[in-house]
Amino acid sequence: MDASDPTRPKGPKIIAVANQKGGVGKTTTAINLAAALQEEGNRVLVVDLDPQGNASTGLGIESQDRQFTTYDLLVEDAPLEDVIIPTELAGMSIIPATVDLSSADIELISNEKRSFLLHDALRQPAMDVFSWDYILIDCPPSLNLLTVNAMIAAHSVLIPLQSEFFALEGLSQLMLTVREVRQTANPNLRIEGIVLTMFDSRNNLSQQVEQDARDNLGDLVFETKIPRNVRVSEAPSYAQPVLQYDSLSKGAEAYRALARELSSKNAQITAQ
Ligand code: ADP
Ligand code: MG
Repeated sequence: MDASDPTRPKGPKIIAVANQKGGVGKTTTAINLAAALQEEGNRVLVVDLDPQGNASTGLGIESQDRQFTTYDLLVEDAPLEDVIIPTELAGMSIIPATVDLSSADIELISNEKRSFLLHDALRQPAMDVFSWDYILIDCPPSLNLLTVNAMIAAHSVLIPLQSEFFALEGLSQLMLTVREVRQTANPNLRIEGIVLTMFDSRNNLSQQVEQDARDNLGDLVFETKIPRNVRVSEAPSYAQPVLQYDSLSKGAEAYRALARELSSKNAQITAQ
């Protein structure tokens, strides 16, 4: 879905990267898929919706530069030009997060629109001037109000699944939340796909998880698997996506393949 594609729908495609388990590769996938989509010529916004702010750190936004954050966007109605910060990559920006965001749940408890704040923020007319192709939302490791905001704002949910024992446990809870969001607030919410992360082809357990996932979830599972690759885990400490840190690494190539698979799936859907 590059900018020249005539079948491209109006407005950005919004994808929530979610899984209530921590450490499964949500942030890594949000950052590197964003970078791979950017490399294809797309304009991409990353929304850091995790109070840990790992996506912000991984994209080189230091704490002192996070004056305005997703907290300000959601709770204080801050203007977009204050919260959207350009990254090193042309056409790719981020709305960063800080630990402030962890109190949003409680502060918003009496706000009737609390589940729709991100939806409304991303659809305000002032957003049009940025002409994003994709918005990727990096969710916190929980099915809380923030994740629900992401699912209501999004067109689809992309689920990283770590290739380890118990990986599929918890997925039914996540799917239940998706179903609830569909029934109440966002009937068109799709599952973008499930991506196997930290895959180790020499490990029987990885292969077993892949088999189970493909048997149970079929086409929902992306063909592309993200291998366990030390360059992927090193990149954030250099404040870069792995595509910049080590462009030819297996991890970088895998995220490029994921971006290609995702854009071609979306092109097919739009053409239908
Ligand atoms: P989450 O956002 O779901 O909590 P992260 O993306 O932060 O998960 O990943 C958890 C840890 O695993 C991080 O230290 C990250 O660098 C590492 N990691 C993620 N994907 C890979 C990979 N493909 N290869 C090696 N390490 C990875
Ligand atoms: Mg994370």
